[in-house]
Amino acid sequence: MASSSCQSEGLSEEDYDLIHGSESGWVDARTSCHHLHSLSPDLTHIPTPNTPCNRCQHPNENWLCLSCKDVLCGRFVNRHMLQHFRETNHSVALSFSDLSVWCFSCDAYLDAHVIQQLRPVHEMAYVLKFGELPPVGAS
Ligand SMILES: [Zn+2]
Ligand SMILES: [Zn+2]
Ligand SMILES: [Zn+2]
Repeated sequence: MASSSCQSEGLSEEDYDLIHGSESGWVDARTSCHHLHSLSPDLTHIPTPNTPCNRCQHPNENWLCLSCKDVLCGRFVNRHMLQHFRETNHSVALSFSDLSVWCFSCDAYLDAHVIQQLRPVHEMAYVLKFGELPPVGAS
């Protein structure tokens, strides 16, 4: 009796991105992470979302390292953010394409609405990207 639940298997990467890019409720986002100790102490001053990748100058949809505020491209481009993590062990990065936060050490998205240390930088990135504060979470 294989009454399998319809999980999101067999989705293309595009679909996967669409799901993860939705405005609220990232699939499987963690509400805690043990790698936040390396976050930059000043995350209210961050590069703008259209900052190119520091290494290959890829123009958009880059990631912001939340430890050193380097801007690097993602896994669908040249994976410079992943390289950066391997070189520096800076685990936590914010996506300038959908403002999600990814922890390379947890290998999971982090919920920036729940995790206190991430909320200010998420809000700041939102303001830089959209020119206004994120809507207050009226569930
Ligand atoms: Zn790059
Ligand atoms: Zn870094
Ligand atoms: Zn983590």
